[in-house]
Amino acid sequence: MTRLAGKVALVTGAGRGIGAAIALAFAREGAAVALAELDFDTARQTAEQIRSETGARVLAVQTDVTQSASVQHAVSEAESALGPVDVLVNNAGINVFCDPLTMTDDDWRRCFAVDLDGVWNGCRAVLPGMVERGAGSIVNIASTHAFKIIPGCFPYPVAKHGVIGLTRALGIEYAPRNVRVNAIAPGYIETQLTHDWWNEQPDPAAARQATIDLQPMKRIGRPEEVAMTAVFLASDEAPFINATCITVDGGRSVLYHD
Ligand code: NDP
Repeated sequence: MTRLAGKVALVTGAGRGIGAAIALAFAREGAAVALAELDFDTARQTAEQIRSETGARVLAVQTDVTQSASVQHAVSEAESALGPVDVLVNNAGINVFCDPLTMTDDDWRRCFAVDLDGVWNGCRAVLPGMVERGAGSIVNIASTHAFKIIPGCFPYPVAKHGVIGLTRALGIEYAPRNVRVNAIAPGYIETQLTHDWWNEQPDPAAARQATIDLQPMKRIGRPEEVAMTAVFLASDEAPFINATCITVDGGRSVLYHD
């Protein structure tokens, strides 16, 4: 499979979960992939698995997306090892679910630092090169929280709404330079993030089942199902898709009521 042959991609938060699935899917489609991840050991292990399974050129680079210098460093490492970055996936994200009035200032700041500043830091690091080369695709991993609200999840949806705003603004700003900026809004996808949330509930098994019961397809999504959409948006199959968001949630956000 060669839908991304010759391309270089950088995926943030690629050590596990959705980011790791995207990195693997990109490598299977012929891309060289840089895994930019906070935890270098995880990144290295995942990079090794992807390399041995696909034979792709893969790089692990320790990156904190909240620090613009760290992201710039990851991009220059990727460019030295693999070549100019054609595709950026801003995937790194954290859940910060609070009651608005009991939330601390630190909760607010760490949510925005990762979930919104992190996305901007990634865009800012790759855009000059993409603009200069007149080509590029940025895919931001948002969430259905980017347009729906669940009480008690503040301020995560505020940051994710911002990711859509950033996607639309940059998509329009750089469209004349052939740089596309799109988002994916996953619904419930089974990763460590969702397990952590279930495990915080009084009855984790019941919380998991309740999540499944809420889904029109009576199942939770898989990371690979988000990855397939990322491949499409990153590829030359989506040349006129820009400044928009594709929802990958099995229809959940359309459902008004059970
Ligand atoms: P995971 O927690 O499984 O993976 C997130 C990865 O991001 C981890 O490897 C984590 O590293 C890394 N990361 C966290 N902070 C930073 C940072 N500052 N710099 C670099 N890397 C960092 O999450 P998911 O795979 O589930 O989520 C991926 C994205 O998808 C997120 O943006 C999330 O908001 C979004 N999403 C997920 C949904 C789901 O149901 N799973 C639904 C909707 C959206 P470490 O382990 O070292 O912290």
